[in-house]
Amino acid sequence: MKTEIQRELSHIFKLLASEKRLAILMLLEEKPYSVSELIEALQMEQSAVSHQLKKLREEQVVAVQKVGRTVYYRLTDSHMIDLLANAEKHVDHVMNDESHEDWLKRNKQ
Ligand SMILES: [Zn+2]
Repeated sequence: MKTEIQRELSHIFKLLASEKRLAILMLLEEKPYSVSELIEALQMEQSAVSHQLKKLREEQVVAVQKVGRTVYYRLTDSHMIDLLANAEKHVDHVMNDESHEDWLKRNKQ
């Protein structure tokens, strides 16, 4: 049985499943970027970057902020910020063949 929530969740995870979009999101985790800064950092075509940003914006994964005449893309939604950070932590211990518990021990303050 497919509920609307499952469909939307699947949509969000598909959005996050693109390596190109993940590359954008990992840059935005550090700081806001303009389209031209993203093009420079990722060595991608403007049309490709704009296309991916549009998709991310439609699902409220990224937000825009205008500074003067420049549009900056940012991560502002704490759900998405936490989701990305948690997925990166999970990948970190899986890549190192480490259990979740060992990762927690290693990273506790
Ligand atoms: Zn984990």
